[in-house]
Amino acid sequence: MRRSPRVATRWLARFAADETLAPPPGAALESTADATETTAVAPEPPTLPAAMLDTARQTQARRYARQQQRLSLVNLGLGALLVGVLLFSGLSFWLRDTLAVVPAWQPFAGWLPLRVGAYFLALFLAAFIIGLPLSYYSGYILPRRNGLSTQSLGGWLVDEAKGLGLGLVFEILAVEGIYALLAASPRWWWLWAGVAMLCVTALLANLAPVLLLPLFYKLTPLPDGEVRRRALARAAQAHTRVRGIYSMNMSARTTAANAMVMGLGTTRRIVIGDTLLNHYTPDEIEVVVAHELGHQVHRDIPKLILTQTIITLGGLYVVSLILGATLRAFPQYHGLADPATMPLIAATLAIFGLVTLPLTNGFSRWVEHQADVYALESTGMTAAFVSAMTRLANQNLAEVEPSPIIEFLLYNHPSIGRRLAFGQAWAQRSPASDGAAQATR
Ligand SMILES: [Zn+2]
Repeated sequence: MRRSPRVATRWLARFAADETLAPPPGAALESTADATETTAVAPEPPTLPAAMLDTARQTQARRYARQQQRLSLVNLGLGALLVGVLLFSGLSFWLRDTLAVVPAWQPFAGWLPLRVGAYFLALFLAAFIIGLPLSYYSGYILPRRNGLSTQSLGGWLVDEAKGLGLGLVFEILAVEGIYALLAASPRWWWLWAGVAMLCVTALLANLAPVLLLPLFYKLTPLPDGEVRRRALARAAQAHTRVRGIYSMNMSARTTAANAMVMGLGTTRRIVIGDTLLNHYTPDEIEVVVAHELGHQVHRDIPKLILTQTIITLGGLYVVSLILGATLRAFPQYHGLADPATMPLIAATLAIFGLVTLPLTNGFSRWVEHQADVYALESTGMTAAFVSAMTRLANQNLAEVEPSPIIEFLLYNHPSIGRRLAFGQAWAQRSPASDGAAQATR
């Protein structure tokens, strides 16, 4: 129930829709304190040694991935336990009856927003408290122990608090909306909820870069210099109306590097972590920018929002079937909009999400691969692509070759091993591409 502990990365992933690399595992984040120095001039492009895969880091990456996966499983188990107890011990009904002290204000027949809100708060707090030790361990202790986090405990706690506040606001609105629809339209609530979800997601995707992201990070336009010049030239080549290329102070929270496209319409932008800008060659950064432009050219953010909506709609429909059957079998429920149905709805949506996860991840991997194809097609810089991927694996403690089953189930980007193999195969097919293409295109 408790969502992934990496608060800022989670909010990033939710609205950025897409990143060069999967969110750095355990990249905890916070404190905007360091973000004041806005350099107007880019530092000299660093001269870096050729990227070589670090075998010691790979051993550490494998261990780190196992630890995080085990913790996710424990987290999942705890969530299942909480929901199971609520559903099968009668606790859910007890909680509803206890909360009968809350006024039964009804804006319209069947909708009890105050009781629904109180019930949700009780569940939210229980899930938060149960999940807290785990999120502290996986979101703070493990990343620090592995040198991925640059945050203080205070900073991490502030991030947690912000994430908790945001989660609370959005989730309570969603829950109230669903219960209002359950009361108003018992037959079609799931369809209306899906439509509302689509509108809200599109709105949030638009507002995230200007409203949500600044709560965690500071975005500054990419400083003048070679990197900016090259990025703008690639954007012009892509004929895409990017509204800006920004640097983000990821280093305030993590040592891991990343880049992403985010926003919709007028807020559409490419965002590159300072952790990437400071540690990669101009060629490597250019090929990463080209990957992000590939997402713009392919309109991947609207595409991902749409597929997510279709999946959500499917989940809500399954909920409507299960709710109907449960209500017929168990007279203890007072109706669809009875707050006691909340654990059942949550459990059904969670199980549906888990079952469809390989599907959504598979789609995301395909979208990512297409962006890689675009990056190599448009730049021809295969050597830079391969070395950028190698550097990312070393820096982000990313497992280069995860077990195929783990990759199939959990990876929303192709593994770095696959991306390296793809780059190398591309180089063999068109060996003259590097450099020459840069001059001609
Ligand atoms: Zn991508």
